[in-house]
Amino acid sequence: MKYAMVFNSQLCIGCQSCSIACRSENKVPDGLYRLRVKIQGPKGLFPNLIFDFERFSCQMCEDAPCVSVCPTHASFIDENGIIDIDSDKCVGCLYCIGACPYNARFLDTKTKIPNKCNFCKNTHLKNYGEPACVSVCPTSALIFGDLNNPKDPIYDVLNNHNYVRRKEHLGTKPKLFIIPNKKGEISYE
Ligand code: SF4
Ligand code: SF4
Ligand code: SF4
Repeated sequence: MKYAMVFNSQLCIGCQSCSIACRSENKVPDGLYRLRVKIQGPKGLFPNLIFDFERFSCQMCEDAPCVSVCPTHASFIDENGIIDIDSDKCVGCLYCIGACPYNARFLDTKTKIPNKCNFCKNTHLKNYGEPACVSVCPTSALIFGDLNNPKDPIYDVLNNHNYVRRKEHLGTKPKLFIIPNKKGEISYE
């Protein structure tokens, strides 16, 4: 499989349920984030005010700089396209944190090794078939699926919407697809 995610900012209401669920499911230490949704705005003049929402998390790059710089292969792409960290192989050099152009990794203050989104691979995905953030989103702004399966609903979503991927010019080939807010600005560079 090739797991991917769509963040539809036209549907997002900035409720932060996804971020809270992620924190709980993956026991993320206080003050650190695998996932956050940034709210920009309001913009415009009353009564025509609008907000923009932007998801910050690992972009699940197909050509991942965090993987190529890792000297011990502790950072790796698994059989389902998930970029993950093997804690047994990690030597704590932190090269991967510096190499990520999306600031998606952080040093876990409990484990003392890098941490980041892995689509809840060992937690919610394993138990319920989808990441925790997807399961709690009240507006279905998050769609998770398999890019190798043409019958997967994520296929329809990508075929029927315009989407962007952050910093595409770097050649990282992110598998987090963003449907921009029609009313707002595209600010994904
Ligand atoms: S967003 Fe950063 S941590 Fe995630 S795969 Fe890409 S380079 Fe690695
Ligand atoms: S901190 Fe660990 S995962 Fe990151 S580059 Fe170094 S050995 Fe690899
Ligand atoms: S749970 Fe859904 S609607 Fe709420 S902030 Fe996250 S993506 Fe947006």
